Amino acid sequence: MSSVLDRFLQYVKIDTQSDPDSETFPSTSKQKDLSKLLVSQLLEMGIQDAHLDEHGYVYATVPSNSEKTDIPVICFCSHVDTSPDVTGANVKPIVHKNWNGADIILPDDPTQVLQIGELHDLDQQIGNDIVTASGTTLLGADNKAGVAEIMAAVEFLQTHPEIKHGPIKILFTPDEEVGRGTEKVDLEKLGADFGYTVDGEAVGTLEDETFSADGVKITIHGVSTHPGYALDKLENALKIAGQILAALPKALSPEATKDKEGFIHPVQMEGIQEKAVLSFIIRDFTESGLHEKEALLKEITDDVLRHFPNSTAEFKVTEQYRNMKEVLDLHPEVTENAFLAMKRLGMNPVQRSIRGGTDGSRLSFMGLPCPNIFAGEHAFHSRLEWVSVQDMEKAVEVIVNICRIWEEKA
Ligand SMILES: [Zn+2]
Repeated sequence: MSSVLDRFLQYVKIDTQSDPDSETFPSTSKQKDLSKLLVSQLLEMGIQDAHLDEHGYVYATVPSNSEKTDIPVICFCSHVDTSPDVTGANVKPIVHKNWNGADIILPDDPTQVLQIGELHDLDQQIGNDIVTASGTTLLGADNKAGVAEIMAAVEFLQTHPEIKHGPIKILFTPDEEVGRGTEKVDLEKLGADFGYTVDGEAVGTLEDETFSADGVKITIHGVSTHPGYALDKLENALKIAGQILAALPKALSPEATKDKEGFIHPVQMEGIQEKAVLSFIIRDFTESGLHEKEALLKEITDDVLRHFPNSTAEFKVTEQYRNMKEVLDLHPEVTENAFLAMKRLGMNPVQRSIRGGTDGSRLSFMGLPCPNIFAGEHAFHSRLEWVSVQDMEKAVEVIVNICRIWEEKA
């Protein structure tokens, strides 16, 4: 039987970087290199329906081995792509066995150093086996740690028929890092009642709360004239846009907020004197908080426009995603069963919220309530990315135990 580490080392060597500028789906076809390998490995394990669909999603079922017929169908989900921020080509993983706590200097670029105090949670890992990249690439633990853990859990279930479980669905998605991971997923075909993404950070953590997110686009129509003859006529849309940005409250910016605080964040500005467009993202943990921030932005816009009587502005709000907690609160057993699985393994489960969105937040609102459990990945989207073998092994045990607990409770 291959270990979760062997799988992980094999998967990270396959370049699966996604591309935000691509219009194809998946955004890069090389993601399928890993997906095809996963399908063949699942088939080898005896998972008969494992397949890759035309969009690059892997679907598979571990059939129930229990006499009970009313066990909810549970799905485990990870993404195969890695971040566009750092190259994922020619990853050379290094296992630092029985790490003694000394600085880890990455050989291909000695300016890249993993150091206790600089990287959080690293101090918990003394004596463990830490996997890093070699200094010039990311590692890809986000989310190949999750992929390897799910694969190792499937193998464990297949070779341990004494462990009873209901139907388990496996879903490997492309393009999570470019925000399109759920775009072409077929939940009807998947046929799961509840899911878990395995894409979280520290051991024992579960995230069941994300931002709620909207986009706002303000289109300003100024009054354009020849600048030589502009006296008392010109209303420059660029200056109107500038005044709106200058009037944003500093306390509601990403750089001034943390934990459960939301923000108003301009992300793009373009224009000429006649017309300017400002794009914002609005984030909060509650829908009412989102609406308050949007109302405030509207008020700021209206206030500025009062000084430009012949100019107008269109204000358009677009929903992006919603806090998954709204959905998960209706199905408390999903989170409870994951916590119970961790407690049985002697962990102290920690509930966290994410200042961002996940595939799980989108899946939750598409009908698959789906919190995020730890995969052990750390310092992701950077060349210092690391994961420990011991944490990956714990994640495998948690996955197996979640399957067990759903069967027991049915
Ligand atoms: Zn991820």
